[in-house]
Amino acid sequence: MNQFSVGKATVARIEETYLAVYDPKELFPEFTDAIRDEHAHWLAPGHYDPASARIKLSVHSWLLQIGGQKILIDACCGNDRVRATRPWWSMLNTPYLDRLAAAGARPDEIDLVMCTHLHHDHVGWNTQMKDGKWVPTFPNARYVFSRPDVDYFHKADLDPKTAPVEFGTFRECVLPIVEAGRADLVDGTHRLNDHIEIVPAPGHSPGHVVFRLESGGQHGAFIGDVFHHLLQVYYPHWNFPKNSDAEQAKVSRRAVLEHCAAKGALVFPGHVGAPFAGYIEKGAKGFLPRFAG
Ligand SMILES: [Zn+2]
Repeated sequence: MNQFSVGKATVARIEETYLAVYDPKELFPEFTDAIRDEHAHWLAPGHYDPASARIKLSVHSWLLQIGGQKILIDACCGNDRVRATRPWWSMLNTPYLDRLAAAGARPDEIDLVMCTHLHHDHVGWNTQMKDGKWVPTFPNARYVFSRPDVDYFHKADLDPKTAPVEFGTFRECVLPIVEAGRADLVDGTHRLNDHIEIVPAPGHSPGHVVFRLESGGQHGAFIGDVFHHLLQVYYPHWNFPKNSDAEQAKVSRRAVLEHCAAKGALVFPGHVGAPFAGYIEKGAKGFLPRFAG
């Protein structure tokens, strides 16, 4: 388990998978052997597997404990879900809930589940199948979703041309929460409490948000998929193929990098490899990740 702190807040990484599966050039057409060699000193082993020449990405949640609350940020893929085009995330059988319990939270202890956006790898554990029905995995939690994402994916899930959207996870992992009256839908910049502010960062999805954390004068930022790999800190113009709006995603990426550098925020991305969280520095030539050690 990886543990971090921001002021009085503690943050634990709850791993689902950590695999080297992507051909770097498929994700980033700008990736070259020269760029690989230039960054070789930090790419392996956390972010790139030289043996298979594959990019390494983690899928994890963050368990944030602050102000007496246990907050789960992003909910991975979930077990037993079919992902035809992503075999490495299909029919998973991981001890995710055991890892969450070992980090200090049984499902019934989670107060809030917050999703940076509603892609399948961020909502999977929201629900579980019980007696033929999808029900909340976290029976006492409120779930915080971005309204523009709920609206966008709901519409796409109702359209026969795009349904079932996100491998069916919208109807399995989001809609049952909304229909059970357990979701709080937020719009625009929204202060959740003394410590957490929700700020739009659209582009990866239409309603993607970032959760800013402040405690005792220290800052953190749960940035979801604003960037997927640390190479995008060096090269913020690199698009990620799945982005719903590549230009908007670039604008959001730069804004988030600027903010995190200015505040000295500890950054918690959704998929970056070991050590999984770190800082952003702004140098003369651009942004630099400080994720080592
Ligand atoms: Zn993701």
